[in-house]
Amino acid sequence: MKLRVLNSNSKGNCYILQNENEALVIECGVKFSEVKKALDFNVSKVVAALVSHEHGDHAKYVNDALNSGIEVYTSPGTISKLKLKSNKLPVAMQSKKIVQLGNFKVMAFDVKHDCAEPYGFLIDHPDTGIILFATDTYYLPYKFDNLSHILLECNYSMDILNANYNEGKVHKKVRDRVIESHMNVDTCCDTLRANNLTDVRNIILLHLSDSNSNEKLFMKQVKQATGKRVFVASRGFEIELNKNLF
Ligand SMILES: [Zn+2]
Repeated sequence: MKLRVLNSNSKGNCYILQNENEALVIECGVKFSEVKKALDFNVSKVVAALVSHEHGDHAKYVNDALNSGIEVYTSPGTISKLKLKSNKLPVAMQSKKIVQLGNFKVMAFDVKHDCAEPYGFLIDHPDTGIILFATDTYYLPYKFDNLSHILLECNYSMDILNANYNEGKVHKKVRDRVIESHMNVDTCCDTLRANNLTDVRNIILLHLSDSNSNEKLFMKQVKQATGKRVFVASRGFEIELNKNLF
């Protein structure tokens, strides 16, 4: 199963998990033409699109996905906030209920962000094992077992954010909002360590801030904290996420 990152920052977010037969789109925050291209224009292989919350960088292109016949799954609170123009409606997912989408089993859970009803997702597929996906959350309120791959937000460093604030590059309001809505690298490390990482093969850091992050430092810090392979989800990044080594 290949994971392709179409983008992963405040300008837009979209990830595609696909094998030869099926695909799962996660987030609708990049132009749908880019999604189609990443699918080799085989939109019919998409079993669903998951959307974590209503902010534009995650949900701006939901209408395009719906108009292309893709079923969009998200929280009832997110649906209430989306500016829907399509005849089709997204499907409301209940937290902690498992939904079968093709061969993907998906369970949503609540996360901590400044919006209506943000979700993270546990995604299980025979090819990959269990994948944890959580972005735009200053904290993760749950612990998980039996994870094979982790995609987790690592947005900013408190030191860099404070330095930018002290130099007048970041306004107080913006600084406070970042702290109350996004995950910093120390929390990211603590969160990872709080989970059972025995079977985790890959950790992929999501949604790094343009101005308050340091990619190399974050990768090093998370690697030291976990002893795992660590990657940053930059635009165009691809990785095979498989359950077995061979
Ligand atoms: Zn957001």
